[in-house]
Amino acid sequence: MKEIVTRFAPSPSGYLHVGGARTALFNWLYTRHNKGKFILRIEDTDKERSTDESIDAIIEALNWLGIDYDEGPYFQSQRFSIYEEYIEKLIDSGQAYYCNCPQERLDKIRQEAMKSGSKPKYDGKCRNLGLKRGENSVVRFASPLDGVTILEDAVKKNIVFQNSELDDFIIARSDKTSTYNFVVVVDDITMGINTIIRGDDHVNNTPKQILLYNALYARLPVFAHVPMVLGKDKARLSKRHGAMSVTAYRDMGYLPDAMINYLVRLGWSYGDQEFFTKEDLIEKFTLNNIGRSAGVFDTDKLLALNADHIKGMEPKKLFFYLNPFLKNKDIEAEYNGFMEGVIKTLNKRSKTLADVAEGSEFYFAKSISFEDEKVRKLLNSDAKDIFLMVIEQFEKTDDFSEAGLEKVFVKIMKRTGLKLGKIASPVRAALTGKSISPGIFEMVEVLGKEKTIERLKAALEFIEIS
Ligand code: GLU
Repeated sequence: MKEIVTRFAPSPSGYLHVGGARTALFNWLYTRHNKGKFILRIEDTDKERSTDESIDAIIEALNWLGIDYDEGPYFQSQRFSIYEEYIEKLIDSGQAYYCNCPQERLDKIRQEAMKSGSKPKYDGKCRNLGLKRGENSVVRFASPLDGVTILEDAVKKNIVFQNSELDDFIIARSDKTSTYNFVVVVDDITMGINTIIRGDDHVNNTPKQILLYNALYARLPVFAHVPMVLGKDKARLSKRHGAMSVTAYRDMGYLPDAMINYLVRLGWSYGDQEFFTKEDLIEKFTLNNIGRSAGVFDTDKLLALNADHIKGMEPKKLFFYLNPFLKNKDIEAEYNGFMEGVIKTLNKRSKTLADVAEGSEFYFAKSISFEDEKVRKLLNSDAKDIFLMVIEQFEKTDDFSEAGLEKVFVKIMKRTGLKLGKIASPVRAALTGKSISPGIFEMVEVLGKEKTIERLKAALEFIEIS
């Protein structure tokens, strides 16, 4: 089979948004599934709107998602001479021509069409005049006047366009720069792209592009137009549906794997499976399973998937993503047995990395403050007796495993006749300064004997002076 070659071709006029990231992901997954080649091409011919910051932001977001490319980035702004060469080819083969109709004439044609309620269309005045290039001339493509152009789309199936609906559209402006549909086609041909997966907002460009492929005697790629992503209210996705920039989710504590998992489900499915790792997706992704209805962006679902990925990720890998959030809280941590323990007590109960960082603060605290109202209530005179007993038992044992700790607590329960909660709640308050925390045994095991006893003694002192 021929090598699959795909591309992601963003216009750098902003950050990488959810819809763009999904397009990149679909192309990347399809390529990796087929062991093909994935190219990054920056469509920066619109100088007014393209910025270097945006290029950096898009590349940064792709890196974060782990969407790597095999070639590029190529920049359209550096390829003008190639486009000119292809314009020449079409003129030489009689499939494009110079047009010097003044703007006033074109405006008049437009106005008349509007008046009569028909679609404005160039009337082909210069089509057969064989004009040479003049100062203000543009190059027009000589579109077929009748017949149909069929888009055989891998997602939408066949879409038929009447050629009479298209006009002799401009492919090069008077300053010689080529127009959008032309440069896309020349790039896709010269880069050997044979599969184009993109948003269905490009469907209407495709008949023009197909005609250009034909005129350049190039083989058509496979087109797969993916339905747009909508908000929950079925309106086109916009800021009011939640953050649109992919890296905003990174900054809120989402894992790239969760984002990937969520993005893929906005238009692709595999039975009713919801949770996918990247490896899983590379194995399973095909064009057949791209859906025909719009994906609906739902931040609650994304959050739930993030929690699942935090739970499912190996602690060492999770630490890599967690560390910046710890640093934000002035926690200098490295990955070791203690950190692994900290993560294992929190990964089942956190929705974001920010939650994990927040939940882990007490493990690293030099001392615990008892400002919380509920915590203060728990640190009463009954707690004092409990702490004395717990300290005594803890000092006697070296078995700080979950099972060993449970035995200690059972012993105290028997001796005092108290239920576990009555003992665990003040102990938790003393050790964490909070009324909720990970399970008491697993948490004490991670905290270790020394810190646990030190904190219980500090809480005793707090009770005595308050
Ligand atoms: N540059 C276009 C965009 O950002 C994509 C062009 C294409 O995929 O053909 O929408």
